[in-house]
Amino acid sequence: MSDDGASLGDIFRRLIRNTGPISFTQYMGESNARYYTAKDPLGGAGDFVTAPEISQMFGELIGLWLADIWIRAGRPDPVLYVELGPGRGTLAADALRTAARYGLEPEVHFVEGSTALREAQMESVPQAIWHDDLASVPQYAPMLLVANEFLDALPVRQLVRMEQGWRERMVGLEGDRFVPVAGGQPMDAAVPVELRDADEGTILETCPAAAAILFEIAGRLEAQGGAALLIDYGHAEMRPGSTLQAVRQHRKVDPFADPGTADLTALVDFATLARIAQSRGVKWLGTVPQGAFLRALGIATRTENLAARAPQYAEELRLARDRLVADDQMGQLFKVMGLAAREWPDGVGFAQG
Ligand code: SAH
Repeated sequence: MSDDGASLGDIFRRLIRNTGPISFTQYMGESNARYYTAKDPLGGAGDFVTAPEISQMFGELIGLWLADIWIRAGRPDPVLYVELGPGRGTLAADALRTAARYGLEPEVHFVEGSTALREAQMESVPQAIWHDDLASVPQYAPMLLVANEFLDALPVRQLVRMEQGWRERMVGLEGDRFVPVAGGQPMDAAVPVELRDADEGTILETCPAAAAILFEIAGRLEAQGGAALLIDYGHAEMRPGSTLQAVRQHRKVDPFADPGTADLTALVDFATLARIAQSRGVKWLGTVPQGAFLRALGIATRTENLAARAPQYAEELRLARDRLVADDQMGQLFKVMGLAAREWPDGVGFAQG
């Protein structure tokens, strides 16, 4: 509940009673806007923990990747570090500290919607320049773009196969409870031909906002040069089904209970995003599990070096490494997708198998 009057749930209820069911996109978009603006949800005392908050090694290895590709691209200067949804700024601080050791000292641009998180970012990366979206980020230099757990927070759209054909999946009311309902308009034309006759109840989920951002990132990589790392939990191939979930205080909760008070996310469809990037001429370096990526960048050696320097933290460091790379933790579910401008070199860590 918010303290400034009506909860988002009450606002949605009034809206639905007056004008009918709302789209998933509106429900998820407004819920997350409300959720992120007011608070810092990260960390042990918050709702969820992200890779950069687990260990400094995560951001350091990202910084190493960026420095490596930048050096092999001929050390262009100036160069921009652009991060989407930087959270507390931890990843950026760790990556930039590491990159600086290799001579990479980029101009820093953050795309962040939340006032509370911007304040945290000002503490960790005071030299950053803030933006509401990518549109105002300058275009005069190559761009090294990073986004960790950003795309999964963007609103999804869902279509559902009903007896009479495909419909948009909307959010309606049953008493005071939010429930998914099928919209009235036929949506068959929006569904790929091979899926038109799918079984009744089949759900197709897409993320128009993520598609739009990838389109813009790819266009900029082609125009400005540079590379991008997009890290998120998701699948490498598109598959049917709803993946919408809500997390509060480290627990999965009902996404339809109390909108605006839990983090709503959906799995990222990396296959579609890779196709969008390639359609603009950008090189898709690959989409690999986070565990494999961090191992290729030397997380094992990094852990042992840090442990040797601070033996009292050795156990903690090894546990953090396992959380980041183990198959049954973040290692498989999270994926890293790499993109680079056509004339840029291939990055390390994307060799498959
Ligand atoms: N990258 C950070 C934080 C992940 S949480 C980490 O790994 O710890 C998601 C981040 O994206 C937050 O910073 C949130 O405020 C931001 N965000 C979510 N939706 C956004 C939007 N539509 N526009 C700008 N920022 C957004």
